[in-house]
Amino acid sequence: MNDMNKTKYIFITGGVVSSLGKGIAASSIGALLEARGLNITMQKLDPYINVDPGTMNPFQHGEVFVTDDGAETDLDLGHYERFTSLSLTKKNNLTSGQVYDAVINNERKGTYLGKTVQVIPHITDEIKKRVIEASEGKDVAIIEIGGTVGDIESLPFLEAIRQFKLDKGKDNVLYVHLTLVPFIKAADELKTKPTQHSVKELRAIGIEPSIIICRADRVLPQDIREKIALFCNVEADAVITAKDEESIYDVPISLHLERLDSKIIEYLNIWAKSPDLNEWINISGKLKTLKNLVTIAVVGKYVNLKESYKSLNESLIHGGLANDVNVNIKYVNSEDFEGDNWRERLKELEGCSGLLVPGGFGSRGINGMLRAIHYARTNNIPYFGICLGMQLMTVEYARNVLGLKDANSYEFDEITPDPVISIMEEQKGIGNMGGTMRLGAYPCIIPKNTLAYNIYFKNNKKYAGDKKNCVKIQSDGNISISERHRHRFEFNNKYREIYKASGFVFSGISPDGNLIEICELKNHPWYIGCQFHPEFKSSPLYPHPLFKEFITASVKYLNGLLGLDAKKSKTRNNHKNKKRNIAPI
Ligand code: GLN
Repeated sequence: MNDMNKTKYIFITGGVVSSLGKGIAASSIGALLEARGLNITMQKLDPYINVDPGTMNPFQHGEVFVTDDGAETDLDLGHYERFTSLSLTKKNNLTSGQVYDAVINNERKGTYLGKTVQVIPHITDEIKKRVIEASEGKDVAIIEIGGTVGDIESLPFLEAIRQFKLDKGKDNVLYVHLTLVPFIKAADELKTKPTQHSVKELRAIGIEPSIIICRADRVLPQDIREKIALFCNVEADAVITAKDEESIYDVPISLHLERLDSKIIEYLNIWAKSPDLNEWINISGKLKTLKNLVTIAVVGKYVNLKESYKSLNESLIHGGLANDVNVNIKYVNSEDFEGDNWRERLKELEGCSGLLVPGGFGSRGINGMLRAIHYARTNNIPYFGICLGMQLMTVEYARNVLGLKDANSYEFDEITPDPVISIMEEQKGIGNMGGTMRLGAYPCIIPKNTLAYNIYFKNNKKYAGDKKNCVKIQSDGNISISERHRHRFEFNNKYREIYKASGFVFSGISPDGNLIEICELKNHPWYIGCQFHPEFKSSPLYPHPLFKEFITASVKYLNGLLGLDAKKSKTRNNHKNKKRNIAPI
């Protein structure tokens, strides 16, 4: 594609305030360039000193996204994967922690031959080296710099990308800056001053953006574009509006209509076909016209910060798209089910047609989750347990069906007589908490005649599996999948037989037969848990089979409540539920 057979680099910085959607803008650029037939990659540079976000509290950082190769990364990598065909790796998220760690290690080894080790050139060289490594062989590398221009932390990264233009030539490097253009009601005016200041800040450190993407609540009129162009020294048609959109999946189309992708290829002097955006147009159109609604309760403990469940949130939306329904996600704090009035509070789940307990760590809120799981099991409500949600599904079953009253996960009770979830052998004695869990993609075998088999088999062709190669039908008829993990504990094999004997099914097992990956219940319409995180592999174009079928089951459940024929009619917004059963536990 690329005439010069050289990688071109797009650096995306952000100004004025955080949370302008830099990650979505970067991902949309990725989607647009891929739609133009370019071979791209994406990288996030994070200025914090943590080596990775793996040890950070979700309240601090939001979700930790996990790649196939087991990197614990910034959640923006999740956006990159959802918007493009990329399957990213450790190399695609670089933090100051990693850079300093490498430089200090080199210094100890004597690599710098007695020189004084400094931010420039040693830190900046290390950054440049890693950007180049992550971009090798690609037509275009899109690199997002975390934080906001003006932060002390990001200075070494900005200095490194400044040098890039000198190193690689002006045709090969493009700076795109995202700012905010607020509308001030009292003055009835859009204000360009914050953008001017933020570009001034960038120029003071030697970076001249060529394209300015302006986040605004409306399309910028021509005079405002010209004003920004004049004061910020860019062409007027390089001032792009990123208008607030109803859905993040509208953004690629919206930026394309602003001619962002044409401007990028013009500046990078690169040839690319005109983009095929049909799939994005379909999704965006569909999201606007979906009428029916299904409510899913997500019972967890980080519910006040939606960023903590970013991929999960998106995957449920993808599942809805695949079923032509809107998914109303009701986040419920599991601690609500722990007070004296927990029975009353459980009734809040009445309007829900599906229940999901997501991944999590630590003992807070566990009892509330167990009560919610019990409620779903005994009321035949579709239940989907992810990682911790699967582990608790086995604990609830042990306590209330198998009669093991004090069963627990070793994570929450080290002296439980029945540790149905226990510590993995190789995790015993690990003192270092960073990067030491079971991380990344592992295979799992799914036997025939299980719910899990049906789910993957049915959606085999339409799963990210075919782009990321993760569903294989084996010669013995079983299915082999590959999914991403992030956990320390596992199902205790000592208990396998008693579970099996009572109708509990282990429907996904590691190829060596040792680790339980999926479990389900026979006498329930849809009750399934997985030890892995399917939300890391779902995208709007390729909804994950588990999410898709969870929503299908929830729609079916709702239609059952409404007395509707599932085939004839989908869902209705208003419904009165049957009385549900809240048994004492
Ligand atoms: N805390 C559990 C474990 O470490 C579950 C982890 C998760 O849900 N990601 O095994």
